Amino acid sequence: MLIVPEREIADLMTRDAAFDAVEKVFAAMASGDAYNFPVVREAIGHEDALYGFKGGFDQAGLTLGLKAGGYWPNNLEKRGLINHQSTVFLFDPDTGKAKAMVGGNLLTALRTAAASSVSIKHLARSDSKVIGMVGAGHQATFQLRAALEQRNFEKVIGWNYHPEMLPNIEKVANEAGLPFEAVDLPGLTEADVIISITSAFAPSVMAEHISEGTHIACMGTDTKGKQEVEAALLVKADVFTDEVAQSISIGEAQHAVAQGLIKETDVAQLGAVINGTIAGRTSDDQITLFDGTGVGLQDLAVAASVVDLAVEKGIAIEVDF
Ligand code: NAD
Repeated sequence: MLIVPEREIADLMTRDAAFDAVEKVFAAMASGDAYNFPVVREAIGHEDALYGFKGGFDQAGLTLGLKAGGYWPNNLEKRGLINHQSTVFLFDPDTGKAKAMVGGNLLTALRTAAASSVSIKHLARSDSKVIGMVGAGHQATFQLRAALEQRNFEKVIGWNYHPEMLPNIEKVANEAGLPFEAVDLPGLTEADVIISITSAFAPSVMAEHISEGTHIACMGTDTKGKQEVEAALLVKADVFTDEVAQSISIGEAQHAVAQGLIKETDVAQLGAVINGTIAGRTSDDQITLFDGTGVGLQDLAVAASVVDLAVEKGIAIEVDF
């Protein structure tokens, strides 16, 4: 079995490799070559932790496995560790033998950033110039950094519930040589592309804050009860997702579906757009919305890619198992 420790991931994994892995696996999911197993997520009654498994099998890429981990809210304060902790385990689909164990913390950030980037590539207007960020936490910096590679953006604007956190994304914009402007919510109408990545349980972004022709990637809602945008926006927009079952149960679409505003059949797989079996953006005034819920196959895809890179560079640790 091969081990790729968390400390090695930053030097091994690239944004390009994460993008390719996620784009391919979204396509495989839509063509029926890959499927995600039901998600397990439990409050374990210890350290206030949420722990669970996300797994799946990709028959095209021959990737089988799971990501185990979750959220330990006391880690940072008590132990100086980050609160999100995860590890990916890959298995040989021919034999069931454990194949690799890979640190999953940075990979989670990179695969989540890759998902909104893939949605921008396939759904945003090609002449998009202004990108808007809703959220300025840990994950927002990764989303913005990856998104800036998808279009010739000229300006970054941002709104955050905690405005004192906005310098986090201003720094990323400036590093890319772009100006940053903090805006109020109505100011988001200037954006051609928006990424929302917050832990909110009530919507901040209303339908009136989104201009015609905008692409919005909603990335924060990955649990029942969370919500970033007004349900009415999903009526105005054409809605795409990584996985329809997750979108309508734990994703942003859960609210619009529960309120009877849209139906499950109104939510399309981004992978089908990638495969060319359905249309993505068909006009310059259409609003497209990507509901990125985060699937296990994304984790497996980036982990498999990093194992290949680690083997290539002689960094993977081999153990008898
Ligand atoms: P973080 O704690 O670093 O940042 C949280 C962000 O949410 C901050 O911008 C904060 O200001 C904002 N926020 C907090 N309360 C809010 C409220 N009431 N209204 C509006 N905004 C509020 O967290 P993070 O690591 O950046 O993760 C952000 C979210 O993304 C989390 O909910 C996490 O579960 C989710 N996430 C999703 C995926 C996926 O695949 N879809 C992957 C990783 C993380």
